[in-house]
Amino acid sequence: MHRVSSRLRILHPRGYATATTRPPLSGLSANARERAEKLSAGWKGTSATGGNTKLFIGGEFVESKTSNWIDLADPATQTLLTHVPDSTIEEFDQAVAAASEAFKTWSKSSVLTRQRFALELQRLLRENSDAIATSIVLEQGKTFADAQGDLLRGLQVVETATGIPTALLGNHIEVSKDMDTSTRRLPLGVCASIAPFNFPAMIPLWSIPMALTTGNTLILKPSERDPGAAMIIAELCQKAGIPPGVLNVVHGTVPIVNAICDNPKIKAISFVGGDRAGKHIYERGRATGKRVQANLGAKNHAVIMPDANKNHALNSLIGAAFGAAGQRCMAISVAVLVGNAQSWIPDLVERAKQLKVNQGFEQGTDLGPVISPAAKDRINGLIGSVHEEGGKILLDGRNYEVPGYPEGNWVGPTVVEATTTMRAYREEIFGPVLVVISADTLDDAISIINENRYGNGTAIFTQSGATARKFEVEVEVGQIGVNVPIPVPLPMFSWSGNKASFLGDIPFYGRNGVDFYTQNKTTTTLWKSEDAIGNKASVDMPTHH
Ligand code: NAD
Repeated sequence: MHRVSSRLRILHPRGYATATTRPPLSGLSANARERAEKLSAGWKGTSATGGNTKLFIGGEFVESKTSNWIDLADPATQTLLTHVPDSTIEEFDQAVAAASEAFKTWSKSSVLTRQRFALELQRLLRENSDAIATSIVLEQGKTFADAQGDLLRGLQVVETATGIPTALLGNHIEVSKDMDTSTRRLPLGVCASIAPFNFPAMIPLWSIPMALTTGNTLILKPSERDPGAAMIIAELCQKAGIPPGVLNVVHGTVPIVNAICDNPKIKAISFVGGDRAGKHIYERGRATGKRVQANLGAKNHAVIMPDANKNHALNSLIGAAFGAAGQRCMAISVAVLVGNAQSWIPDLVERAKQLKVNQGFEQGTDLGPVISPAAKDRINGLIGSVHEEGGKILLDGRNYEVPGYPEGNWVGPTVVEATTTMRAYREEIFGPVLVVISADTLDDAISIINENRYGNGTAIFTQSGATARKFEVEVEVGQIGVNVPIPVPLPMFSWSGNKASFLGDIPFYGRNGVDFYTQNKTTTTLWKSEDAIGNKASVDMPTHH
């Protein structure tokens, strides 16, 4: 078996395990071990006990024939959980062939059949939420409660997709006497979804229900760092009644992603991940005429006004900055403290200190490890850069130790005071690090945010409606919270991150999601009323006039 970790380290700046991976089960607590064993025994596509993650092609969970395998280690203990295949091009081609074949019938299936699939899937996801959350805790590291939230936010997309018959209603109008024009919304064909590591359930579920209920077939490439949740979801899709080939899962890295971009049978790509991969996929996918929606990186600012409810503002800030160890694209990574709110910094630091960092199944854990030793090194480097560039480290999470877990990728909650020219402000850190910036006025705070290249999310904490309204109108960010820290819209709305946080024309889920996965066909018909058969017969003697 050939391991590809060293090559992957070059491809992925956030990186893979550099610490020695421990044998299966050896480093897990009794609780985690029991859960890992149950997971491996209960599901066809994933392993948490050192087996191989399977491919899902044409309705079968199959072993990859690749010679390149990626070791996936639990980020709290470095225990080997599974080997993830870097799929071969032949396997990828099989998945495309299966999806193309399935499209012929699935695209013609009744919308009620597809609605029933969504209804059944939502029931099965609820019933199996513990298994999915367990896989996420083991592979990704977030807490069990947070992993349940990861699934729930995806489940809400499934629930919205159960309304697909209404969402697919077309238009019809009589444009002239006896002439009608109507549109129908039709699927595109085989689509692909490429997902990041930080929401292993939610992000595959941004695509699966939308693509499938609109009549498309899908090839999903989950993150190679935590594909377990996607494999369980695939099995549940099968149980929910989709025919073979409607959903396929392939694993891998750059070669498979490039094959997705280049394959002419694939009509659309949904990508969520970092800037580098996203820009590459957007350009390469567009070059072959595909629709591409690409959600990218972020730097989300929360403005704290001096009139804010202090307790609510600080608690919201702490939760949004450090939850999921800061590995959320909507995490608040910058706090802009306006005027007297700057005097709350010691309190902010004190509250951040109270958070408990531990393995995700341990009781009372607020945040787990970061995804990999390389990610930890990168985050630590960015914390260090604050000092080097003249800023202040107010709370330092480097060298954080968790009793009983000496090898985890731990970074404790960190608060730094910086300016907008420093690296820690300019780069996406994607770790539990809150950058604090000071501003004299609301106008200054808005200027800081508008000058930032990203536009994923922002929030303001204030008791003044006028202040909030001015902020909402003037700030150039696509998703805004007023006294709400992580303003991710529910899926009756669509994702609306903007600026450098999005590439493409049509965003994820909601009405836009239906638009992304469909194309309109417009027909104009003329059926003259005088040609209708069954008109009253004439009984007069024909005169041939
Ligand atoms: P990533 O870009 O490293 O990986 C995302 C996907 O792209 C993976 O499936 C990976 O295999 C593939 N990939 C990685 N590098 C590639 C390359 N060079 N060429 C082709 N494919 C490549 O992202 P990640 O580290 O898994 O996720 C974290 C990033 O995702 C953060 O930047 C975060 O802000 C972003 N994100 C954005 C949103 C959003 O909605 N805006 C949501 C979640 C995560």
